Amino acid sequence: MKYVVVQRGDELSQQLTARFHTLAAGCGMTESEEEPDTIVTIGGDGTMLHAFHRFRRHLQHASFVGVHTGHLGFFADWMPGEIETLVQLMAAPSEGSKLRLVEYPLVEVEMTGKDGQSDTFLALNEFTVKGIDSTLVAQLNINDELFEMFRGDGICISTPCGSTAYNKSLGGALLHPSLESIQIAEISSINNRVYRTLGSSMILPKHHHCDIYPKSQGKLLLSVDYNHSQREDIVSLRCQVSPEKVRFARYRPFPFWSRVREAFIGHDVQ
Ligand code: NAP
Repeated sequence: MKYVVVQRGDELSQQLTARFHTLAAGCGMTESEEEPDTIVTIGGDGTMLHAFHRFRRHLQHASFVGVHTGHLGFFADWMPGEIETLVQLMAAPSEGSKLRLVEYPLVEVEMTGKDGQSDTFLALNEFTVKGIDSTLVAQLNINDELFEMFRGDGICISTPCGSTAYNKSLGGALLHPSLESIQIAEISSINNRVYRTLGSSMILPKHHHCDIYPKSQGKLLLSVDYNHSQREDIVSLRCQVSPEKVRFARYRPFPFWSRVREAFIGHDVQ
């Protein structure tokens, strides 16, 4: 078992990382930045996002597992006090009946500039496009047909994993990550007698796609999870479910709806 740890950098995460390395060495596991089987994150959901992008090229064969040292994480299954158990389970694949690899969908966004060049990015949580110099005006096509002309702050295209993040703040639905889909949510759309958008979020299945054609002048802010870039040459943004997936190692059940309840409702329901 080859592993790598990505940690948040706070004192607790650093201490747990040192402990993890000691325990892992004792179990015969080796640290490998180049070819990890498992990418362990110690921190929050933000730490998982960073690990995902850092090890993006290993998606096909590596899986992720998270230990959370802050709020209860959506991506992190393990508490700081459970590190010994986690290392033992990771080191003993023969007891692998406990190990389940779950694969969750990603958003693929293809950005095409005026020169015809395209760049493709993957998001674990979401892709957003916003106007910087002015309101975003953009034509939204679904499956190559005009759907609406959007005017407002921006558009958010999220994965089911990301549905509990920015998408939730935008009033989007929470989606179980086993649903291979992307969700389109509006960011403060302008709606009046002249300008009209649907006003609800939409969920597209994996064989559908949407294209955003910016019409406003000036720079756009393009964000793939926490990575932001500014461009003023974008002609089109194609968003769809990626053929690639992210894989999480689950050594025990922690159902998605339990995570949602614990994160947003808590235990003290009257
Ligand atoms: P960040 O501090 O890493 O993340 C912002 C917050 O979102 C943190 O509390 C983080 O949890 C939480 N989070 C991340 N992924 C989540 C998920 N899948 N489900 C539930 N909560 C999640 O900020 P950042 O470095 O800019 O990271 C970018 C992320 O922030 C984006 O992907 C976006 O989803 C989120 N964001 C949210 C809003 C909003 O809700 N209004 C606005 C902008 C961006 P941890 O504390 O555990 O890391």
